[in-house]
Parts: sequence; structure tokens; C-alpha cells
Amino acid sequence: MRFLLKIIVLVFFWEKHMKSYQVVENGKPLIEKELEKPKASGKSILLKTVSCGICHSDVHIHDGFFELGGDDKLPISLREPLTMGHEVYGEVVEIGEEVKNISLGEKYVAYPWIGCGDCEVCKADDEHLCSPLTTKNIGINIPGGYGEYVLVENEKYLFSAGDTPDSLAGSYACRGLTAYSALKRANPSKGDNSLVIVSAGGLGLLALQIAKAAYDINPIIVDIDDEKLAAAKEAGASEVINSTHEDAAQKLMELTGGGARYIVDYVGAAASVNFGYNLLRRGGIYVVTGLFGGSINIQLPLLTVGARQLVGTYVGSLAEMRELMELVRNGKIQPAKVESRPIDQINETLQDMKKGSLPGLVSVHHD
Ligand SMILES: [Zn+2]
Ligand SMILES: [Zn+2]
Repeated sequence: MRFLLKIIVLVFFWEKHMKSYQVVENGKPLIEKELEKPKASGKSILLKTVSCGICHSDVHIHDGFFELGGDDKLPISLREPLTMGHEVYGEVVEIGEEVKNISLGEKYVAYPWIGCGDCEVCKADDEHLCSPLTTKNIGINIPGGYGEYVLVENEKYLFSAGDTPDSLAGSYACRGLTAYSALKRANPSKGDNSLVIVSAGGLGLLALQIAKAAYDINPIIVDIDDEKLAAAKEAGASEVINSTHEDAAQKLMELTGGGARYIVDYVGAAASVNFGYNLLRRGGIYVVTGLFGGSINIQLPLLTVGARQLVGTYVGSLAEMRELMELVRNGKIQPAKVESRPIDQINETLQDMKKGSLPGLVSVHHD
């Protein structure tokens, strides 16, 4: 009898609680916790996390800073213990009474870049660029997919991913969107294979697939790792360049016919920008979206005479997410390979990502 009572209490507890992995102290291992399960009401929707992508910015959020070069760091303050995970793919398990077009049991990718909704930037539909003091980004400011359940405040943030594998779908919310938005900023001509993508890592491989789907481009891929470059070649890169090789600059100049018109840098390290920026042709554009860190010196007259553009982009807008997910649902983007690991390996996985030893995309699942 006592045993039965114990089971009933336990079941009741589990129904109201969920397992979450939280950053309690920056840089220290995440801690497994039993937290209260959120409830959907009004316009909100409760997702049960099916899979959550592990993005490189998770490493920075976990560490609590971005590298600015030298000893300088840009702090990312941890206001309270945080359940990270901003690439959420989840199944709808509860809907608020005002939700109209979402069905229980359906699976969706959650757009995580949620702004205050009130400022001029948000009103111009650029809520991903809302002030960091007022954003409600999933997995960064509010609980994300390292928890078993995720509350999403409005159905406009949910996107069906069609036949995309569960382990990949969430990756479109950050890395896929970042890849797409940065490519849009470079605005390459359709079919122009002289587009240069810096990174043959997870983000670079996603960008490669999106460049093929959205622009019919087989880009030139630059990286420092021969193994990753071989994978990029296999995935459809027209040419690959190892930027640590002596003849790398010359090779890029030859392949681009005297200088690159567009370079999209998904690494964003001092070394990668220093390598590529000086290889732009006149009027060329260098888009930086990686957050590896560091700083560079720019010789200003060359910026002017060369009419170069050096621009930064950060994730992407809700409108861009809509466009990207349409490409995804229509099967236009060849699915990138993803390694799926159980959530209890999250600490090892973050360490692997920090060391750069992950071969490609990785996501975690909760069962
Ligand atoms: Zn705002
Ligand atoms: Zn991310």
C-alpha cells in the first residue's frame, strides 16, 4: 500500500515537473534539475522538446562572454539559472484558448528571436534586432530546449518543417536562419559559383545546402581543416581552399577571377577575416556572421578606394524564417547530416563543440 502511494505521488510529481539542464554558473557543467512544467494559456503553446540543436553560440552563452580580441571580452550576463537551447523542434502538447491554427500532436520549429514587441525595431518586423535588454529569446533569455518542455508565446513563431528529420529541424531556427540571412545580405547572382563561404563546419555545411537551394550556387568553401573541407567537397562545394596553405590567397584570386565579389564568413575569427577581406575585388562585400571572436585592423583608404563593404549580420528576421522554412518544406534544401545524442550527454557535447572536435551538426534528444 505504501509502495502504491509512493508511485502515485511520483506520477503526480512527474506530470507537473520536467527535467531541465541549466547553466547555474558560467563555464561550469550544466546541472540537471526538476523544474515546474509550464502551462499554455491565452495565445501561448506548450511544446514537448523532440530535439534541440547545439549551436556554437551555446558555448559563448555557457561561458558568459564573447571574445573581442586580446584580453577584451563582451559579457553575456546570466540573470538567473538558464535552460539553454535555442534550436527547438517540439510536439504540441497544450494550446492556449486563443490559439487558432496549431494542432495538438503536430511538430514545429520554434523561431527563438523574440523581441519586446513595442519598440520601433520590433514594429518594423526586425524583432531579432530588439535591444538585448528587452529580448525574450528562447534558450537565451527564457527557458529553451535543454528542458523537456518549452513554452512559446505566440503561434506566429511556429513553423512546420515538412519531412525534415527530427534531429535536423531545430537547426533551421538559428544556424539555418543565420546562414540564409547572411547569404541574402551578400545577395549573390543566381548560379555564380564564385561565392566564397568561410567555414566547412556545421554552419558552413548548412550554408552550402541553402546556397544551392536558394541561389543555385555551388560555392567555394574555405576552412583550416582538410577533413572538413573534404566533407564540404562531397556535399557539393565547387572548390575548397585550406586558408593555412601558402598558396591559399593565390588560389582564391584565381578561382574568383581576380578577387571575390562576395564572401560570407561563418567563423568570424580575426584570422578568417584577415585572410578574406583583402581578397575582395573592388565593390566586393564581406559578410561576417560567425562569433568566434577577435579583432582586425582595417586600412581605411583601401576600404574607400576598393569600395568594399564589411557588414555584420545576426541571426535573421521572422520574415526570413518564413522564406527559409518554405524552402525546407518544399524539399528544396538537401538535409545536412546530424548526429543525435541523448540530453544527458550535454556537458560532453558542449566541451566537444568548444574544442572544435565535432565533425558537423549535433542535436540532443530527451528520451
Ligand atoms: Zn523591441
Ligand atoms: Zn545559435
